[in-house]
Amino acid sequence: MRTPLIAGNWKMYKTVAEAVELVEALLTSAEQGYASEREVLVCPPFTALYPLAPLLADSSIALGAQNMYHADEGAFTGEISPVMLKDIGCRYVILGHSERRQIFGEDDALINRKVHAALKHGLTPVLCIGETKPQRDAGDAETVTLGQLRASLHGLSATQARGVVLAYEPVWAIGTGDTATPADAQAMHAAIRAALASDYGQDIADAVRVLYGGSVKPDNVDALMAQPDIDGALVGGASLKADQFVRIINYQ
Ligand code: PEP
Repeated sequence: MRTPLIAGNWKMYKTVAEAVELVEALLTSAEQGYASEREVLVCPPFTALYPLAPLLADSSIALGAQNMYHADEGAFTGEISPVMLKDIGCRYVILGHSERRQIFGEDDALINRKVHAALKHGLTPVLCIGETKPQRDAGDAETVTLGQLRASLHGLSATQARGVVLAYEPVWAIGTGDTATPADAQAMHAAIRAALASDYGQDIADAVRVLYGGSVKPDNVDALMAQPDIDGALVGGASLKADQFVRIINYQ
């Protein structure tokens, strides 16, 4: 069985003091236990990773970064390496977020190098894939999403592919309040799982978690999580407020 994963992407929000306050609220709620078995992950901005690591070290909440470069070290001004993220206790790293693709020009080839580097250093990539609105309107949503999937995972063995978390994030749903319907999201998740089965075998397809992301909120999470191929959520805006994120974690 796939353990559901609820992940918060804090983007470029929260000073260190604000990040500590939010994590303390999440830890208090974690002590009370969750509705059923699930994993929780927070991905704060780089500046908050180091101060949050000791708070989360012995907790049920995992720590992840929002991006990284693929080299171990070197003259790459402004970048952070997988070695550095491991060093301070990160277990996950979000890769290929649409904001990285669209604003910072990341392409599938670069993201593929990052996926390989993350796995090499024992970080679990949360690989984001998904189509834009014009692509969906043109009927290309599945072609685009599966194309990103295959290009980003290029060269991975089946064992390595098992170690990846995927996040289907239709770009038009991110930060817009315009969520995919549970049926549309389920259809894409099923297509992603079928592609994994064809490329790596049914065992791997059954094991890999595919999260949904795009305006997940307390009032839509239950219907999304009821879908058989939705294994969790990657949450942006609603992960910045403890009460909303806790409600999402405790989806029914
Ligand atoms: C995201 O940043 O990955 C995201 C899904 O954002 P939001 O939940 O705000 O749409």
